[in-house]
Amino acid sequence: MSVFTSMESKDHEQLAFFQDSDTGLKAIVAIHDTTIGPALGGCRMWPYESEGDALKDVLRLSRGMSYKAAIANLNLGGGKSVIIGNSKTDKSETLFRSFGRFVEGLNGRYITAEDVGTSVKDMEWVRMETQYVTGISRALGGSGDPSPVTAQGVFVGIKASVKKQLGKNSIAGLKVGVQGLGHVGYYLCKYLHDAGAKLVVADLYEPSIKRVVDEFNADVVGVDDIYDADVDIYAPCALGATLNDETIPRLKASIVAGAANNQLENELVHDKMVCEKGILYAPDYAINAGGLINVANEIDGYNRERAFSQAEGIYDTLLTIFNLAEKENIGNQAAAAKVAEQRMTEVAKLKNIYLTRKNVMGKRDQT
Ligand code: NAD
Repeated sequence: MSVFTSMESKDHEQLAFFQDSDTGLKAIVAIHDTTIGPALGGCRMWPYESEGDALKDVLRLSRGMSYKAAIANLNLGGGKSVIIGNSKTDKSETLFRSFGRFVEGLNGRYITAEDVGTSVKDMEWVRMETQYVTGISRALGGSGDPSPVTAQGVFVGIKASVKKQLGKNSIAGLKVGVQGLGHVGYYLCKYLHDAGAKLVVADLYEPSIKRVVDEFNADVVGVDDIYDADVDIYAPCALGATLNDETIPRLKASIVAGAANNQLENELVHDKMVCEKGILYAPDYAINAGGLINVANEIDGYNRERAFSQAEGIYDTLLTIFNLAEKENIGNQAAAAKVAEQRMTEVAKLKNIYLTRKNVMGKRDQT
């Protein structure tokens, strides 16, 4: 498919290709939609087998960010970047500073952050060259580790799911199966335990299991047994695609609500399948938006309290999605897309209101 055809198919606004032979940089920035605000999304470093694979990934990921920002009620659009290279062997200060200079050249239409294969340290190199970067350490005035905010968003999302599915205001006494006890999973277990839930957990890494057993009195099951666990809620906080033809029939939980990205192996098929089984699924990009909310807060000067307070909004967002899905008899993932698209459409209409601003040439123009 040609580049323009690829862009047209999901209505991407802009693609920017950068190469710098001195540093070995080969990067692509995709800006999907800036209706609501500047495009924010992480920079993925990956040894793509072909330029076509890199292009496909950056187009797909940037579109996902438009929906995630829109549903999180952030004034941001969707973008993403990829650096073609091996994150273990190809990183250098100058590579990331070179990338930063190119991002600066986009003049704020795209704001970058860390993603798979990039780290806080890399973003600090990027920051030497551009202000349009987030995901900086707390020590340098950034937002630091997003996981506690993500976990809090997932926790309020579980509460909204319990309200909708079980008609309860409290999760005390409910059993939650948490898959993955890493950055987000650990904090989520803490919130759940403090709220009186009983935990059933699985992880591949023994020290992470021991910590939640010691601190939160969790029961442990094998990594493949979590799908059969007799729990009220299944909270996937490890890998993607754990909702599939093989696992959905095994679930005893009536709610799926967790932090992992891309939980549905096939968005259309498995959104329907969970729905038909009577399971309430909390769409991943709505419930795990706390991480994005956290980095977005850096733009106006980071304030941790504000980030936590915005993540509380995930409760109402999920209820809106659940109610729309019920009203229109569609899956929750489909309803989430509708809610996000509605916000993009409504904000776009606002822009019909004439404003005058002074432009850089001193003339007045319409924006
Ligand atoms: P992490 O790498 O810190 O933790 C993942 C944990 O899952 C690890 O402890 C790992 O051992 C475990 N794991 C891997 N395979 C497993 C398996 N088959 N069964 C059970 N456990 C397994 O990651 P994280 O930052 O906690 O993120 C968890 C998920 O949430 C990821 O999908 C991530 O993309 C998503 N997410 C994270 C954030 C954030 O703020 N960190 C924000 C949004 C979404």
